[in-house]
Amino acid sequence: MKTEIDLIFENVSDQIDKSWEEEIGFLQKLCQFPSTLGNEAPIQHFIADFLEKELDLSVSKVIPDPEKLSSHPGYSEPEWTYDERPVVIGEYRAEGDKKGKSVIFQGHIDVVSPEPVSFWEHDPWGAEIVGNKMYGRGTADMKSGVAAMIFALKAVRDAGIKLSSNVIIKTVTEEECTGNGALSAIEEGFKADAALIPEPVLGQKGLIAQVGVIWVRVKVNGLGAHTEKADKAVNSIIESYKMINALLDYEKELNSQKRHKDFAEHPHPYNINIGKIHSGDWPSTVPSECTVEARVGFPPGVNPQDVKDNLKSYLLAAAEKDEWLSENPPEITFYGFHAEGFSIDPNQELFDVLNVAHMAVEEKPLEVGSFTATTDARFYNLYYDIPATCYGPTGEGLHAPNEWVDLDSVKRVTKTYAAFLLKWCGYSNVIIEK
Ligand SMILES: [Zn+2]
Repeated sequence: MKTEIDLIFENVSDQIDKSWEEEIGFLQKLCQFPSTLGNEAPIQHFIADFLEKELDLSVSKVIPDPEKLSSHPGYSEPEWTYDERPVVIGEYRAEGDKKGKSVIFQGHIDVVSPEPVSFWEHDPWGAEIVGNKMYGRGTADMKSGVAAMIFALKAVRDAGIKLSSNVIIKTVTEEECTGNGALSAIEEGFKADAALIPEPVLGQKGLIAQVGVIWVRVKVNGLGAHTEKADKAVNSIIESYKMINALLDYEKELNSQKRHKDFAEHPHPYNINIGKIHSGDWPSTVPSECTVEARVGFPPGVNPQDVKDNLKSYLLAAAEKDEWLSENPPEITFYGFHAEGFSIDPNQELFDVLNVAHMAVEEKPLEVGSFTATTDARFYNLYYDIPATCYGPTGEGLHAPNEWVDLDSVKRVTKTYAAFLLKWCGYSNVIIEK
């Protein structure tokens, strides 16, 4: 026996099938914007227009204000400005009595650089479709999720259904470096009873835990000279190896400690990535300065400031044992991610309703899992008592060449999000045409 909500969902699901070509076109358009750090404005204006014109949402744009945010424990220090780089918020305001609960759907539109582009078999900004896959930077991480969440709400609306509670769509900046985009929109008051983020990190599983992340910068000085006198000089690149090795030793220590329960089964949850190194400009010059930048993962429940203090002491202690570095200690600073990890209980309504929605599409129970990197879900869970999880499409090549997303999974996630809306927000005034 089909219930009323099953029949309504069938209508919405048909609507998603009908508008599938449009959804693919929208996703291609999103993926053709090279929205790396500092280049987010064009895609944000495009999305804002779409939400206003196609979904009749009331749209706001928020520019993160570092001064206002800087006292917040979740704030990360940027080294750039926020001018012309808005976060976009579209609000669906339910009419009449609010029966259900409100929800935020949030996705980030910033992407990491596709370099080196010569490693790609497809244009990283081409959004080329081959078989069931769409290729390009951001296809999986996470413009497909953004398309899915927007088209889920659009399908509900186009099927003539009025939701009984508010829905907020947010497309945010800086998920890949600070999270300040997400933080600023919450601080401006855009809150709800729960938040869903269609990140692809676990595919169609619910996220219940993620690690904390910080970025560190280690500047090592040498003693520059012409190579003619290289025997008397100190090469900063070679000196920096010592600091890289100390970082890798720190990583070993982090992973040898007793594991957090949500990462107990993971072979290596806390990764330190040496992501950038900069030094030298001439083969015949001994370089005077070398800067290494790394990303450090650590367990949930640990304050990022404690990790920074601890890591700094660790690196300085390692330098202390070295003849040159003890006299010329490295300069250790931090910028970007200041992100605490989190762990939440899957036994709560958000996961119960997501499970029902997932079952309606996937016909099997929802699984949950942990993630060894960070997402914007942390802000809601840690600082606002708003339960938040990630559940998204399936893809590969995140932050790597030849990124792709599985288009079937995008359609299924669109349907799951639509099913979630019906169940979580409730609905009214429905005429079922069957
Ligand atoms: Zn992402």
